[in-house]
Amino acid sequence: MGVVPLMPPLDAAGAPWAGPTGVGDLALYEPANVLASVVVPAGWKVHATGVAMGEVPQKDGRVRFSFAAGAVRDFPVFASKGYSSATTTVNGVSVESHFASQDAVAGKRVLKYAGDALGEFERRLGPLPFKTFRVVEAPLSGGAGGMEFPGLVTVGTSLYRSVAHPESVLADVPGMEQMKGLLGALGSDAAPLAQLGKMLERTLEFTVAHEVAHQYFAGLVGSDPIASPVVDESLAQYSALLYMEWKYGKAVAEQLRQESLVGAYHMMRMSGGKDAPADRPTSDFHDSLEYGALVYGKAPLLHHASRKLIGDEAFFKGLRAYVDTYRFKWACGDCFTRELAKASPAHARQLERLRVRWWREAHGDEDLGQPNLGALLGGAGLGGGQVDAETMKLMKELLPGLLDMGQE
Ligand SMILES: [Zn+2]
Repeated sequence: MGVVPLMPPLDAAGAPWAGPTGVGDLALYEPANVLASVVVPAGWKVHATGVAMGEVPQKDGRVRFSFAAGAVRDFPVFASKGYSSATTTVNGVSVESHFASQDAVAGKRVLKYAGDALGEFERRLGPLPFKTFRVVEAPLSGGAGGMEFPGLVTVGTSLYRSVAHPESVLADVPGMEQMKGLLGALGSDAAPLAQLGKMLERTLEFTVAHEVAHQYFAGLVGSDPIASPVVDESLAQYSALLYMEWKYGKAVAEQLRQESLVGAYHMMRMSGGKDAPADRPTSDFHDSLEYGALVYGKAPLLHHASRKLIGDEAFFKGLRAYVDTYRFKWACGDCFTRELAKASPAHARQLERLRVRWWREAHGDEDLGQPNLGALLGGAGLGGGQVDAETMKLMKELLPGLLDMGQE
């Protein structure tokens, strides 16, 4: 990654945008056309963005892979060994899933989720400028569930493994032995594990949808992921929630909203973190827990509040207008709010007030209430509700490890 020299956009004062800070995404650039060849040792495969132009064996035994990509804001390159793949076609786009051979079952489901998400988003947000879209399994560090690039996204190996073996998630958690006892105490051994498996599967699908949504925000509609990560992350996150609503209905989406978004905020508060403005540069956040809670948990809930205020019709009209207006351009911090205001002029001032409240001020405790341990337990697939004080205390210690599965 980062092998192609690209010039960062300049700010108003003529200085280049900041690079990666260690929290959040790497960088984004002006859309560019790329023609690239990558030579790897025999047995390796190259995964990059764009149309694959061929694999040519070299005289020395190595293999040259070539790609042509149009209007991309970044050019990721990955190499794998021992990977398999599965392919489908959605709206004329060839969707590919590349995965370690041992993760074939999950890898095929990732293909299905990516195709479904691409289909839903293209139908409602307009076409993407790709002929090929790739999802590549990658060993991501720092608890990230996935990482987005134009035309190519990665999903963390740990997610593939955890859906195949839900019990392995518990093995990674400190206090696994107590957890096993707990599972027994909460009911039959099999039921909570099945619950956990279901929750992990939904996390996998939600993660894939989030990364696919990034193709619009900030792949198509550009924004600065270092100075203003809320602009694209909040919309990727809320679009993933919308995808779950379109596919599975409002009840499932509402449960996920509580568990994944509101729950992320509550987890941060329970572990001693404080509410703060969400619209800040990545370097401004203390750690990934605060970043995740405010940028992925709280900030997307602005869109939910705006939608409730102006109604579905105006909200989706404004969302589509935002994509159409800023495709291949750079959007600003309040550009989406302004598109919503155009779709519902009577609410313009209230929409702006909501944006300031959710993104620039700190009203999380008032707006999201106190942590609900029952909901958090439900989120971990462990039933919830009827647990005694001792169990509750134990769960509080164990939950952060269980719920630490975000995405970039
Ligand atoms: Zn993201």
